[in-house]
Parts: sequence; structure tokens; C-alpha cells
Amino acid sequence: MNRNQQIFQEIFSKNKVKGKYKFDYNLSKHSWFGIGGNAEIFYVPASLEELQLVLFSNEKAIDVTVIGLGSNIIIRDGGIPGLVIKLGNGFNYISHNKDIVFAGAAVQDKVLSKYCFRNSIIGLEFYSGIPGTVGGAACMNAGCFGSETKDVFIKAKCLSNQGELKELHCSEELFTYRKNNYLDKLIVCEVQYINEIGDPLAINKKIREISNQRKETQPQKVLTAGSTFKNPFDLGVLKAWQLIEKAGLRGYESNGVSLSTHHANFIVNRQKESANLIEDFGENIRREVKNKLGIELEWEIKILGKR
Ligand SMILES: Cc1cc2nc3c(=O)[nH]c(=O)nc-3n(C[C@H](O)[C@H](O)[C@H](O)COP(=O)(O)OP(=O)(O)OC[C@H]3O[C@@H](n4cnc5c(N)ncnc54)[C@H](O)[C@@H]3O)c2cc1C
Repeated sequence: MNRNQQIFQEIFSKNKVKGKYKFDYNLSKHSWFGIGGNAEIFYVPASLEELQLVLFSNEKAIDVTVIGLGSNIIIRDGGIPGLVIKLGNGFNYISHNKDIVFAGAAVQDKVLSKYCFRNSIIGLEFYSGIPGTVGGAACMNAGCFGSETKDVFIKAKCLSNQGELKELHCSEELFTYRKNNYLDKLIVCEVQYINEIGDPLAINKKIREISNQRKETQPQKVLTAGSTFKNPFDLGVLKAWQLIEKAGLRGYESNGVSLSTHHANFIVNRQKESANLIEDFGENIRREVKNKLGIELEWEIKILGKR
């Protein structure tokens, strides 16, 4: 056991932690790429109150990283130093009143979408197509087919890395394209969404349309983290996948990592050797696009940990 692990062992025993924790825990199954290094300390808190106590006791300010379902991350081979938090059952709840839908940050987007459909709540149909959690979606301003998290978001209940409760309210500055500008060093614990009642038939129709479009445009049953690069803003019609195609890279493959032939902006992983190979592959694509078209692609996927 190293020094950080010893410190946390003491914090966990002092606070009689009911959640689960492990040291040097392999995170491969927590990344959609199916590969990645270890968490120095992996912790699934039982409740918000417990997490708050643990963070509050982190006086040595050991690094904190939170992960959701891992559908938008590369976890480097050297693993993630410090405390890696994965929100569990204590953060997996949904309820609503006449104005607001409340969802714990561990709720899966598609589960929330289904709940809203069953209760005739419109606006969250697009979550049926996003394979992450409510916390991940709030961090990424996840969206598809013309809707984004910011359109339905009222506020998030968060904890700082030191355990202070904070609220993040929706504002023009809070979200930009696939980005939450204020979430650095905050853990989303609950999100509140607008509750607007609509026609269940229309909701169902939209969910079906989204599902069909996904099947047509995205690779299925492969190890991927969705769109790899953001669509550049200032380039009008050209999206990231179009730039990749224009650079002649559609389907490009190297060392068991490739660009999907189905969707040029999706990286598909077929090897079990190294997560760093995926990052290197992505950097190679960025370099090629820059060299051929003079345009710098920006990662949408978050790269966590050390090499
Ligand atoms: C097949 C496929 C299709 C996809 N399609 C889309 C799409 O159409 N639109 C879209 O926007 N995205 C899409 N994605 C990407 C991904 O699903 C979203 O970004 C999703 O919101 C990530 O959620 P997650 O729970 O998996 O987060 P993770 O991938 O685990 O983490 C992503 C980021 O969020 C942070 N994070 C996670 N939980 C919390 C929390 N509770 N508090 C603070 N930060 C947190 C992490 O630290 C990390 O920086 C797709 C991915 C795949 C694999």
C-alpha cells in the first residue's frame, strides 16, 4: 500500500464508509474502449453524504477524478493517480414534480429518457441515443439530433473536491458545444431538468426516429467512444467526419485501431495491448488532417490519467 492509499484507508475507516473501495483497481471495464490502466484508489460511494465526508477529510488534496459509464474517455495505460470516483446506487434515482425532473448523476441517459416517455415529459427524447450517465452528460453537454443537455437543464447539485455542496444553474456561459465550462473540480451528484408535458405518441415517434438514425449512421457492437473529435465551429458546413474523409482517412487502420467505415469520426478499438495506442492513433489523425487541410481537430473524447 502506498502513501495515498494509506491516507485513504484511514479516511475510509474513520468515516465508517459503507461504499466499496479498491486499491490498484484495473479500469478496463470502465472504458468503452475496453482497455485502460489502474485507479490508484477506486471508490464507489454509498451516498452523497458519505462522499461529502470522505472529500471533506481529503485534507492532503489528493487528486480526484470522477467517471461515469466511460463512453467518452480514454484511460491511459499508466492509470489514474489519486482517487477515482464512480457514483453508484445512492446516485441512481429519478423522480419528478409538476415543474422539475430530478435525476441522480449515476442514472443512465436512456433510462431517464424512458422514464420521461412513460410520464409524457418532452425534451429528453435525445437521451435515448446517448450511452452515458446524467453526470457525464452534464459534463459534456451531451446532445444529438439538434438537442443538447443545456436545452433541458435547470441546475445541478454538485460537490467540490473538498466536499462543499454547490449548485450550478443553467446560463449562457455554463455550456458551450460539448463542454461544461464550470465543472472543473466539481462532481455532479444530481441534475434537475425542465418538466414539460407533451404528447406520448410524439415522444415515442421521436425516440424511434433517433434509434433508426443511429443504426443507419453509427457502427454497432464495437469498442468505441463515439465521436472522437469536435465539429469545428468556424468552418461552416464541414464537420469533423467530413474533414477526416476529405483527408482520405476513412477506415484508416493501424495496430488494431481504426476509423470506422460506418462513421469516419468514430475510432474503433480491436486490440487489448494498450490504451495509449488509441490516443497515438487519434494524434496521428489530427496530424494528418492538419498537414493535408491545415485544420486543427480538437478531441471530444476526454483523455484521463498518465502514460
Ligand atoms: C456509441 C456512442 C455514441 C455516442 N453518441 C453520442 C452523441 O450522440 N452525443 C453525445 O453528446 N455524446 C455521444 N457519445 C459520447 C458519450 O456517450 C457522452 O459524452 C456521455 O455524456 C458520456 O457520459 P459517461 O457517463 O459515459 O461519461 P464518461 O465517459 O465516464 O466521462 C466523460 C467525462 O465526464 C466526466 N464525468 C462523468 N461523470 C461525472 C460526474 N458525475 N461529475 C462530473 N464529471 C463527470 C468525466 O470525468 C469525463 O471527463 C457517444 C458515445 C458512444 C460510445
